[in-house]
Amino acid sequence: MKTLHLNKGRDSSLLRRHPWVFSGAIDRLAGSAAPGETVRVLAADGRVLGLAAWSPSSQIRARMWTFDADERIDADLFTRRLAASIERRRAMLDDPQRTGCRLVYGEADELPGLVVDRYGDFLVCQFQCTGVDAWKAEIVAALQRLVPCRGIYERSEASVRQREGLPPAQGLLWGEEPPALLEINENGRLYGLSVAHGHKTGFYLDQFDNRELLRSMASGQRVLNCFAYTGGFGIAALQGGASHVRNVDSSAPSLELAQANFQRNGFDSSRYALHCANAFEYLRELKQSGERFDIVVLDPPKFAETKAQFQRAARAYKDIALQGVALLRPGGLLFTFSCSGAIDLPLFQKITADAVLDAGRRGQILHYMHQAADHPVGLPFPESLYLKGLVCRIE
Ligand code: SAH
Repeated sequence: MKTLHLNKGRDSSLLRRHPWVFSGAIDRLAGSAAPGETVRVLAADGRVLGLAAWSPSSQIRARMWTFDADERIDADLFTRRLAASIERRRAMLDDPQRTGCRLVYGEADELPGLVVDRYGDFLVCQFQCTGVDAWKAEIVAALQRLVPCRGIYERSEASVRQREGLPPAQGLLWGEEPPALLEINENGRLYGLSVAHGHKTGFYLDQFDNRELLRSMASGQRVLNCFAYTGGFGIAALQGGASHVRNVDSSAPSLELAQANFQRNGFDSSRYALHCANAFEYLRELKQSGERFDIVVLDPPKFAETKAQFQRAARAYKDIALQGVALLRPGGLLFTFSCSGAIDLPLFQKITADAVLDAGRRGQILHYMHQAADHPVGLPFPESLYLKGLVCRIE
């Protein structure tokens, strides 16, 4: 096995079990290793720190498989790690009212770069770095054995793989091709989703807890659901007894799926409306029209992909919050989210506070929201926390 020598003083994050080795931490690789090959990681003084997957094209040059140099990196290791990850979700897996669930969340589940989502009888995987890509066949074989399913499909994100020097990858890995539309049941809410064309692996499973929270607060309320996608929050609001939900999204295909999802749940069409528009412009028009809401949900796409884009992103979050707050009646609720890893919670809270101030309103935070428990945060790996949200009461 090749050895990867770190620079002096660059072992401290690994000693805290953080799994990434950045290019700047590396003194040299003794010999050459293929992408995904297992290498032994050594501190500058020669101590063995563990074993990692080599990724020559990425700024994250190696990802740790283990901090125990005696552990073998083989098919058994993947079977054990996958089984443990799935077992941690046992209660969700056995719940017929929770047929959509993330089974593996990368570094937080000690499987760097691997995501596995379950939608009913199908699994959808993302292989986002060289390490898991090199072990794809073993991982797929283990998943087949561990989770009874009809098919396993790959839906890796092309841009993430590109940073790793990997070609795009999408398609069937094993079993039956998933149908064009899969259906999941989430506490009685039915959602149709497309694993081939949808966002991420097809659905925003990470918002589960927050859909539940909205449902619990929505009775009798008029809701504006911005960045509605396929109707995730809108359907939760109607399930909770909202009197009406107005959904806005700029993607016509997403709204078509949303429409089908509202119908799938049997809601009367007088209780919802769908508008295909740019939310930034649509909210300004609504303000002119004088229409006001009891609850406004803002769940925009990731405005900042990297730290470099973060100022522009901060302005966009503030602008959309300012527009949303202006549409709330006094005492109304703002559900506002950011899934940009580059915007942390204190900053997001400040952006929201500034927007409320600029809108000439006052407010308080009732709830802090995060990603659901099937997207856990690795204690040594704070980067796995990406979804932040606030429920604010606005006077
Ligand atoms: N709230 C959704 C997920 C939102 S994803 C859920 O829980 O399922 C972000 C959505 O924002 C996408 O559907 C995308 O089409 C939409 N979007 C992106 N930019 C937009 C814009 N400027 N105006 C309106 N919608 C936009």
